[in-house]
Amino acid sequence: MKNEKITIHSPHSGHSSFLILHLLCCLLPLLAACGSKGNGHASSEATKPLITVTIEPLRYFTQAITGEQFEVVSLVPRGASPETYDPTPAQLVDFSHSRAYLRVGFLGFEQTWTDRLQTAAPHLRVFDTGHGVDYLLSPETEDHDAHTGHTHTGPEPHVWTSTANARILAANVFRALVSLDSSQADLYRSRYDSLLTVINRTDSLCRSLLSRPGASRSFLIYHPSLTYFARDYGLLQLPIEEGGKEPSPARLSRLIEESRSTGARVVFVQPEFDRRHAEMVARQTGARVVSINPLAYDWPAEMLRVAEELVK
Ligand SMILES: [Zn+2]
Repeated sequence: MKNEKITIHSPHSGHSSFLILHLLCCLLPLLAACGSKGNGHASSEATKPLITVTIEPLRYFTQAITGEQFEVVSLVPRGASPETYDPTPAQLVDFSHSRAYLRVGFLGFEQTWTDRLQTAAPHLRVFDTGHGVDYLLSPETEDHDAHTGHTHTGPEPHVWTSTANARILAANVFRALVSLDSSQADLYRSRYDSLLTVINRTDSLCRSLLSRPGASRSFLIYHPSLTYFARDYGLLQLPIEEGGKEPSPARLSRLIEESRSTGARVVFVQPEFDRRHAEMVARQTGARVVSINPLAYDWPAEMLRVAEELVK
Protein backbone atom coordinates (compact mmCIF):
# COMPACT_ATOMS: atom_id res chain seq x y z
CA MET A 1 0.00 0.00 0.00
CA LYS A 2 1.61 3.16 -1.19
CA ASN A 3 1.22 6.57 0.28
CA GLU A 4 1.32 8.81 -2.73
CA LYS A 5 -0.31 12.00 -3.82
CA ILE A 6 -4.02 11.47 -4.13
CA THR A 7 -6.32 13.03 -6.63
CA ILE A 8 -10.02 12.75 -6.26
CA HIS A 9 -12.35 12.87 -9.17
CA SER A 10 -15.70 14.31 -8.29
CA PRO A 11 -18.55 14.02 -10.75
CA HIS A 12 -20.65 16.49 -8.70
CA SER A 13 -18.64 19.69 -8.56
CA GLY A 14 -15.50 21.30 -9.90
CA HIS A 15 -12.22 20.52 -8.16
CA SER A 16 -11.55 24.14 -7.39
CA SER A 17 -14.53 24.78 -5.12
CA PHE A 18 -13.89 22.00 -2.69
CA LEU A 19 -10.13 22.43 -2.81
CA ILE A 20 -10.67 25.99 -1.67
CA LEU A 21 -13.03 24.79 1.03
CA HIS A 22 -10.45 22.30 2.12
CA LEU A 23 -7.71 24.94 2.10
CA LEU A 24 -9.82 27.14 4.35
CA CYS A 25 -10.25 24.27 6.76
CA CYS A 26 -6.51 23.74 6.94
CA LEU A 27 -5.64 27.42 7.29
CA LEU A 28 -8.22 28.18 9.91
CA PRO A 29 -8.02 25.31 12.37
CA LEU A 30 -9.72 27.42 15.01
CA LEU A 31 -12.79 27.91 12.90
CA ALA A 32 -14.91 25.20 14.45
CA ALA A 33 -17.75 26.04 12.09
CA CYS A 34 -15.72 24.54 9.28
CA GLY A 35 -17.36 21.18 9.66
CA SER A 36 -20.61 20.06 11.19
CA LYS A 37 -20.00 18.13 14.40
CA GLY A 38 -23.09 16.03 13.72
CA ASN A 39 -21.27 13.10 12.17
CA GLY A 40 -17.96 13.79 13.79
CA HIS A 41 -16.81 15.74 10.74
CA ALA A 42 -13.27 16.70 11.52
CA SER A 43 -11.75 18.92 8.85
CA SER A 44 -11.08 21.54 11.51
CA GLU A 45 -9.13 19.13 13.72
CA ALA A 46 -6.43 18.20 11.29
CA THR A 47 -4.00 17.39 14.10
CA LYS A 48 -5.77 14.20 15.14
CA PRO A 49 -5.47 11.20 12.85
CA LEU A 50 -8.75 10.41 11.17
CA ILE A 51 -10.67 7.16 10.82
CA THR A 52 -13.65 6.96 8.47
CA VAL A 53 -16.49 4.54 9.21
CA THR A 54 -19.70 4.01 7.27
CA ILE A 55 -22.55 4.44 9.78
CA GLU A 56 -23.13 6.07 13.16
CA PRO A 57 -23.44 2.89 15.27
CA LEU A 58 -20.03 1.82 13.94
CA ARG A 59 -18.71 5.27 14.88
CA TYR A 60 -20.03 4.61 18.41
CA PHE A 61 -18.09 1.32 18.70
CA THR A 62 -14.97 2.82 17.15
CA GLN A 63 -14.95 6.04 19.18
CA ALA A 64 -15.55 4.03 22.36
CA ILE A 65 -12.26 2.16 21.80
CA THR A 66 -10.12 4.92 20.27
CA GLY A 67 -11.02 7.51 22.92
CA GLU A 68 -8.99 10.63 22.14
CA GLN A 69 -6.40 8.88 19.95
CA PHE A 70 -8.39 9.27 16.71
CA GLU A 71 -11.11 11.47 15.27
CA VAL A 72 -13.81 9.20 13.88
CA VAL A 73 -16.20 10.35 11.13
CA SER A 74 -19.06 8.46 9.53
CA LEU A 75 -20.04 8.76 5.89
CA VAL A 76 -23.81 8.24 6.06
CA PRO A 77 -25.45 11.33 7.60
CA ARG A 78 -28.58 11.41 9.74
CA GLY A 79 -31.72 10.58 7.79
CA ALA A 80 -29.88 9.10 4.80
CA SER A 81 -30.17 5.43 3.86
CA PRO A 82 -26.98 3.33 3.90
CA GLU A 83 -28.59 1.26 1.15
CA THR A 84 -28.28 4.05 -1.40
CA TYR A 85 -26.15 6.90 0.02
CA ASP A 86 -23.64 8.79 -2.18
CA PRO A 87 -20.77 10.53 -0.32
CA THR A 88 -20.27 14.26 -1.02
CA PRO A 89 -17.03 15.73 -2.48
CA ALA A 90 -16.18 17.22 0.95
CA GLN A 91 -16.54 13.76 2.51
CA LEU A 92 -14.21 12.33 -0.11
CA VAL A 93 -11.58 14.88 0.94
CA ASP A 94 -11.90 13.78 4.58
CA PHE A 95 -11.84 10.22 3.36
CA SER A 96 -8.56 10.63 1.50
CA HIS A 97 -6.98 12.00 4.71
CA SER A 98 -8.06 9.05 6.82
CA ARG A 99 -5.73 6.43 8.24
CA ALA A 100 -8.30 3.68 7.89
CA TYR A 101 -11.75 2.88 6.56
CA LEU A 102 -13.97 0.68 8.71
CA ARG A 103 -17.14 -0.68 7.15
CA VAL A 104 -19.77 -3.09 8.40
CA GLY A 105 -19.69 -5.39 5.40
CA PHE A 106 -22.72 -5.74 3.16
CA LEU A 107 -24.61 -2.43 3.26
CA GLY A 108 -25.75 -1.36 -0.22
CA PHE A 109 -23.66 1.80 -0.24
CA GLU A 110 -20.59 -0.04 1.09
CA GLN A 111 -20.90 -2.38 -1.88
CA THR A 112 -21.47 0.26 -4.58
CA TRP A 113 -18.74 2.60 -3.31
CA THR A 114 -15.94 0.15 -2.55
CA ASP A 115 -14.08 0.55 -5.85
CA ARG A 116 -14.56 4.30 -6.11
CA LEU A 117 -13.41 4.91 -2.53
CA GLN A 118 -10.36 2.73 -2.96
CA THR A 119 -9.48 4.56 -6.15
CA ALA A 120 -9.89 7.88 -4.32
CA ALA A 121 -7.53 6.79 -1.53
CA PRO A 122 -5.40 3.77 -2.47
CA HIS A 123 -3.22 4.18 0.67
CA LEU A 124 -6.16 3.56 2.97
CA ARG A 125 -6.37 0.42 5.09
CA VAL A 126 -9.81 -1.16 4.85
CA PHE A 127 -11.34 -3.27 7.65
CA ASP A 128 -14.55 -5.29 7.44
CA THR A 129 -15.84 -5.17 11.00
CA GLY A 130 -18.62 -7.66 10.27
CA HIS A 131 -16.04 -10.36 9.57
CA GLY A 132 -16.95 -13.46 11.57
CA VAL A 133 -20.65 -12.59 11.95
CA ASP A 134 -23.00 -15.52 11.47
CA TYR A 135 -24.81 -13.89 8.55
CA LEU A 136 -28.41 -14.63 7.71
CA LEU A 137 -29.47 -14.47 4.08
CA SER A 138 -31.96 -11.75 3.17
CA PRO A 139 -35.34 -13.51 3.13
CA GLU A 140 -36.04 -11.52 -0.01
CA THR A 141 -34.04 -9.42 -2.37
CA GLU A 142 -32.95 -6.05 -1.10
CA ASP A 143 -32.25 -3.21 -3.47
CA HIS A 144 -28.49 -3.02 -3.17
CA ASP A 145 -27.98 -0.67 -6.07
CA ALA A 146 -30.54 2.05 -6.57
CA HIS A 147 -28.47 3.48 -9.42
CA THR A 148 -29.00 0.53 -11.70
CA GLY A 149 -32.17 -0.83 -10.10
CA HIS A 150 -30.36 -4.16 -9.86
CA THR A 151 -31.55 -6.37 -7.01
CA HIS A 152 -30.12 -9.58 -5.63
CA THR A 153 -30.28 -11.76 -2.57
CA GLY A 154 -27.32 -11.55 -0.26
CA PRO A 155 -26.24 -11.50 3.37
CA GLU A 156 -28.67 -9.57 5.58
CA PRO A 157 -26.71 -6.31 6.11
CA HIS A 158 -28.18 -4.87 9.37
CA VAL A 159 -25.80 -6.77 11.65
CA TRP A 160 -25.28 -4.05 14.28
CA THR A 161 -28.82 -4.31 15.75
CA SER A 162 -27.72 -7.35 17.71
CA THR A 163 -25.74 -7.55 20.93
CA ALA A 164 -24.19 -10.85 19.80
CA ASN A 165 -22.98 -9.22 16.58
CA ALA A 166 -21.93 -6.05 18.44
CA ARG A 167 -19.36 -8.14 20.35
CA ILE A 168 -17.91 -9.28 17.00
CA LEU A 169 -17.88 -5.74 15.56
CA ALA A 170 -16.19 -4.43 18.71
CA ALA A 171 -13.54 -7.18 18.59
CA ASN A 172 -12.79 -6.38 14.94
CA VAL A 173 -12.57 -2.65 15.67
CA PHE A 174 -10.20 -3.38 18.55
CA ARG A 175 -7.95 -5.53 16.35
CA ALA A 176 -7.99 -2.89 13.60
CA LEU A 177 -6.90 -0.18 16.04
CA VAL A 178 -4.07 -2.27 17.47
CA SER A 179 -2.80 -2.96 13.97
CA LEU A 180 -2.97 0.77 13.15
CA ASP A 181 -1.31 1.93 16.35
CA SER A 182 0.20 -0.87 18.43
CA SER A 183 1.89 1.60 20.80
CA GLN A 184 -1.51 2.21 22.43
CA ALA A 185 -2.59 -1.45 22.54
CA ASP A 186 -3.06 -1.49 26.34
CA LEU A 187 -5.24 1.58 26.24
CA TYR A 188 -7.38 0.12 23.45
CA ARG A 189 -7.65 -3.16 25.37
CA SER A 190 -9.03 -1.48 28.47
CA ARG A 191 -11.51 0.66 26.50
CA TYR A 192 -12.54 -2.42 24.52
CA ASP A 193 -13.24 -4.22 27.83
CA SER A 194 -15.43 -1.29 28.96
CA LEU A 195 -17.32 -1.39 25.68
CA LEU A 196 -17.93 -5.13 26.13
CA THR A 197 -19.38 -4.38 29.57
CA VAL A 198 -21.80 -1.91 27.98
CA ILE A 199 -22.77 -4.42 25.28
CA ASN A 200 -23.31 -7.20 27.82
CA ARG A 201 -25.40 -4.94 30.07
CA THR A 202 -27.52 -3.90 27.05
CA ASP A 203 -28.02 -7.56 26.21
CA SER A 204 -29.18 -8.53 29.73
CA LEU A 205 -31.53 -5.53 29.93
CA CYS A 206 -33.11 -6.38 26.54
CA ARG A 207 -33.35 -10.02 27.49
CA SER A 208 -35.04 -9.37 30.82
CA LEU A 209 -37.49 -6.87 29.27
CA LEU A 210 -38.43 -9.26 26.47
CA SER A 211 -38.88 -12.21 28.82
CA ARG A 212 -41.72 -10.43 30.64
CA PRO A 213 -45.05 -12.22 30.18
CA GLY A 214 -46.67 -9.27 28.33
CA ALA A 215 -43.86 -8.73 25.81
CA SER A 216 -44.79 -8.91 22.10
CA ARG A 217 -43.27 -11.88 20.31
CA SER A 218 -43.75 -10.29 16.88
CA PHE A 219 -43.58 -6.81 15.38
CA LEU A 220 -44.12 -5.01 12.09
CA ILE A 221 -41.43 -2.79 10.62
CA TYR A 222 -41.22 -0.87 7.35
CA HIS A 223 -37.57 -1.69 6.52
CA PRO A 224 -36.16 -4.94 8.01
CA SER A 225 -33.44 -3.38 10.19
CA LEU A 226 -34.08 -5.62 13.18
CA THR A 227 -33.50 -9.04 11.58
CA TYR A 228 -30.66 -9.96 13.97
CA PHE A 229 -32.39 -8.38 16.97
CA ALA A 230 -35.36 -10.67 16.23
CA ARG A 231 -33.04 -13.68 15.83
CA ASP A 232 -31.25 -13.01 19.13
CA TYR A 233 -34.42 -12.73 21.19
CA GLY A 234 -36.64 -15.24 19.38
CA LEU A 235 -39.01 -12.64 17.90
CA LEU A 236 -40.83 -12.57 14.56
CA GLN A 237 -40.01 -9.56 12.35
CA LEU A 238 -42.71 -8.73 9.76
CA PRO A 239 -41.19 -6.32 7.19
CA ILE A 240 -43.64 -4.21 5.18
CA GLU A 241 -41.16 -3.28 2.45
CA GLU A 242 -40.88 -5.75 -0.42
CA GLY A 243 -37.41 -6.23 -1.92
CA GLY A 244 -36.40 -2.67 -1.04
CA LYS A 245 -39.55 -1.27 -2.63
CA GLU A 246 -43.12 -0.38 -1.72
CA PRO A 247 -45.29 -3.42 -0.92
CA SER A 248 -47.89 -4.80 -3.30
CA PRO A 249 -51.55 -4.92 -2.18
CA ALA A 250 -51.27 -8.72 -1.98
CA ARG A 251 -48.34 -8.47 0.39
CA LEU A 252 -50.12 -5.89 2.52
CA SER A 253 -53.17 -8.08 3.06
CA ARG A 254 -50.94 -11.08 3.84
CA LEU A 255 -49.01 -8.96 6.36
CA ILE A 256 -52.14 -7.68 8.05
CA GLU A 257 -53.33 -11.27 8.39
CA GLU A 258 -49.99 -12.43 9.82
CA SER A 259 -49.74 -9.49 12.15
CA ARG A 260 -53.18 -10.25 13.62
CA SER A 261 -52.51 -13.96 14.01
CA THR A 262 -49.17 -13.39 15.77
CA GLY A 263 -50.40 -10.53 17.96
CA ALA A 264 -48.05 -7.78 16.71
CA ARG A 265 -48.76 -4.52 18.58
CA VAL A 266 -46.06 -2.25 17.16
CA VAL A 267 -45.16 -0.97 13.67
CA PHE A 268 -41.62 0.42 13.69
CA VAL A 269 -40.76 3.21 11.26
CA GLN A 270 -37.39 4.84 10.59
CA PRO A 271 -36.70 8.46 9.62
CA GLU A 272 -35.18 7.54 6.23
CA PHE A 273 -38.26 5.67 5.01
CA ASP A 274 -41.79 6.65 4.06
CA ARG A 275 -44.41 6.18 6.82
CA ARG A 276 -47.59 5.93 4.74
CA HIS A 277 -47.71 2.14 4.40
CA ALA A 278 -46.75 1.68 8.03
CA GLU A 279 -49.59 3.98 9.12
CA MET A 280 -52.03 2.19 6.87
CA VAL A 281 -51.06 -1.21 8.30
CA ALA A 282 -51.27 0.23 11.82
CA ARG A 283 -54.82 1.48 11.22
CA GLN A 284 -55.93 -1.91 9.95
CA THR A 285 -54.35 -3.94 12.75
CA GLY A 286 -54.66 -1.57 15.70
CA ALA A 287 -50.88 -1.56 16.17
CA ARG A 288 -49.00 1.55 17.36
CA VAL A 289 -46.63 3.36 14.97
CA VAL A 290 -43.32 3.80 16.78
CA SER A 291 -40.43 5.78 15.35
CA ILE A 292 -36.99 4.24 15.94
CA ASN A 293 -33.55 5.05 14.61
CA PRO A 294 -31.31 1.97 14.35
CA LEU A 295 -28.74 4.26 12.67
CA ALA A 296 -28.39 6.48 15.74
CA TYR A 297 -24.97 7.02 17.35
CA ASP A 298 -26.21 6.06 20.82
CA TRP A 299 -26.34 2.33 20.13
CA PRO A 300 -27.18 1.06 23.66
CA ALA A 301 -30.04 3.57 24.07
CA GLU A 302 -31.54 2.65 20.71
CA MET A 303 -31.35 -1.10 21.35
CA LEU A 304 -33.07 -0.66 24.73
CA ARG A 305 -35.75 1.56 23.26
CA VAL A 306 -36.74 -1.16 20.78
CA ALA A 307 -37.04 -3.69 23.62
CA GLU A 308 -39.02 -1.23 25.77
CA GLU A 309 -41.48 -0.50 22.97
CA LEU A 310 -42.20 -4.22 22.60
CA VAL A 311 -43.07 -4.46 26.28
CA LYS A 312 -45.38 -1.41 26.53
ZN1 LIG B 1 -31.25 -1.12 5.60
